[in-house]
Amino acid sequence: MSHKHWCDIGYHEWECDGTQAVRVWAGETKPTPCEPMPDNGIELVSCPKHLEEDLRRFAKMKDLAEVLQTYQDLIWQPEDTPEYKEAIRMLRAFITGPNGLN
Ligand SMILES: [Zn+2]
Ligand SMILES: [Zn+2]
Repeated sequence: MSHKHWCDIGYHEWECDGTQAVRVWAGETKPTPCEPMPDNGIELVSCPKHLEEDLRRFAKMKDLAEVLQTYQDLIWQPEDTPEYKEAIRMLRAFITGPNGLN
């Protein structure tokens, strides 16, 4: 049965036949069957056209999560350890530069 999704990348609704939705936020890269939403809710899923962009953003978010995790692990270290300085450097590079992680 066809239904609508909300594409959060392009900010638009799109029509899905129940087999086109890739739940990128759940780590998926292939479509999985849609479950009916309660109360006629609209599930947030990027449309096929914006899927690639969504996957890119998700990969970047995962990088950010890893950087933050490293930072969190090290924030308790004394500030003059190399590990701490490296964590700060990574965090700063990630936030400031498009090539921050390279
Ligand atoms: Zn879209
Ligand atoms: Zn769907």
